[in-house]
Order: sequence, then C-alpha cells, then structure tokens
Amino acid sequence: MTTAVNPVETSYWVIVPAAGAGKRMGADKPKQYLPLSGKPLIAHTLENILHWPGLKGIVVAIAADDTEFATLRCAQDARIQTVTGGAERADSVLAALDYLSEREAPETSILVHDAARPLVSVADIRKLLAAAPMALLAQPASDTVKLSQTRGGKTEVRETLPRDQIWLAQTPQKAPLGKLRETLLQGLAENSTAITDEASALERAGFHPELVAACRSNFKITHPADLLLAEALLQHRAVESSLENNL
Ligand code: C5P
Repeated sequence: MTTAVNPVETSYWVIVPAAGAGKRMGADKPKQYLPLSGKPLIAHTLENILHWPGLKGIVVAIAADDTEFATLRCAQDARIQTVTGGAERADSVLAALDYLSEREAPETSILVHDAARPLVSVADIRKLLAAAPMALLAQPASDTVKLSQTRGGKTEVRETLPRDQIWLAQTPQKAPLGKLRETLLQGLAENSTAITDEASALERAGFHPELVAACRSNFKITHPADLLLAEALLQHRAVESSLENNL
C-alpha cells in the first residue's frame, strides 16, 4: 500500500540567498534592497514565503557588511534566521545549509528561493511541494531558441535548439538537505563556475530533478524594467488569486 503525502503537511525550510551585489541593475545598493511598491524587494519576497503552506522557517544568507536586513520589519519574525553569505551564490546557499545541517535531519526538504523573485504564486509552491523530492520551478521556452557562436568579432547563430525541450530554470528549487549539501560541496570542489543553481549541482551528481512549470509572474528582477513590471503586477494583483491562474 502506498501512503499519499499531503504536501501541505510536509514541512520544509526555505533558504534565501541574498548576499549578492546585483550589479546588473546598475543601482547604488544591492538589488534586494531596491524599493518596490513602498518597501525593499526582499521584504516582498520574505512576506510571500511566510504564507507558504507547511513552512518551518527561512534562512536568509546576507553579506558580511549588510546593515539593512536588520531594519526590515519582517526580520523580527521568529521564523526568519540569518547567516553570512559567501563569494558566490552557491557559497551563500552552502552557508545556510551548514546552519541547517546542525539542526535538522538530512532528509529535511529544502527550498532555495532567490530574493529577487517576489511574485511566485502559492499555487506553484503547492505544485512544487507535491512534485518529486528533487524538483524546481521553471518556464518552458516560448521563443525560438538560438545557440550562438562568435566569429570575426560578431555574435551569430550557430543553430536552433528544439524549443519543446528547453526550460528556463527558476526558483524555488527543492532537494533533501543532506543530498543538496553533499552535491553542492562536491560541485564547488570540482568546478565552481558551472554551479549556477542547486539543480546543476544535483545534475552533476547524476540526479534528474523534476521540472515544474511555473506561471509567468515568477520572473527574476534583474534589470530596471523588471522592477516596473513587478510594481505594476503588485498593484493589479490580489496575491493568491488572479496571477495564480494564468498570467
Ligand atoms: O545575481 P543573481 O540575480 O543571479 O543572484 C541570485 C541570488 O543569489 C540573489 O538573491 C543574490 O543576492 C544571491 N547571491 C548570494 N551570494 C552571492 C551572490 C548572489 O546570496 N555571493
């Protein structure tokens, strides 16, 4: 007899790497602290996570010289802990995994979520929780995808990739604590530049995380125009209703 696991009853920790400088935004402060509808971007992300079903707690990795995090209202929430991040995103995630591995069993489910994705829907979180133990939210490619090459100083098309097999990885990315820590450590020791997300560390170790299609609101705020789009969506949205269904 198989026992169905109710995803809402599965408790898990969320890790939020927020120790980056976010240089692509060209702003005078790290992008997680840029204002969005009246408060810093990361405050939206954390307040959203605090509503996820089954959440046990959040570990936020912040920069060693961060002075802003402690000023956030949500930083006072007892479910939020902080650790000092590292040089790369993977080092920051690892610092949080080290903290959790001293307190939780290796089987504990971990969801790693970018500070810069404030608009992920609770419906997508439920889908991710119900998916395989290793899984990630992702966007199936909607444009035709070209692989490029550089020749004579120009970037040109090398070939067109089969679009129906292309997915853009997002977060949250889910995996058991012990396996995620082990594979990240191994991946970083072997070739740190190839580890751009948690799934890439798991893949290198031979795992095949499940891809879970996310709705389009789960974009990462990377460029200034993304902030404008997020602001517009926040203004027109009742968070768990309209966007949850088909944006
Ligand atoms: O730069 P990018 O948008 O890819 O960063 C993704 C996430 O990783 C951001 O939330 C950023 O703050 C975080 N990060 C980190 N430690 C670093 C670099 C990035 O926690 N050293």
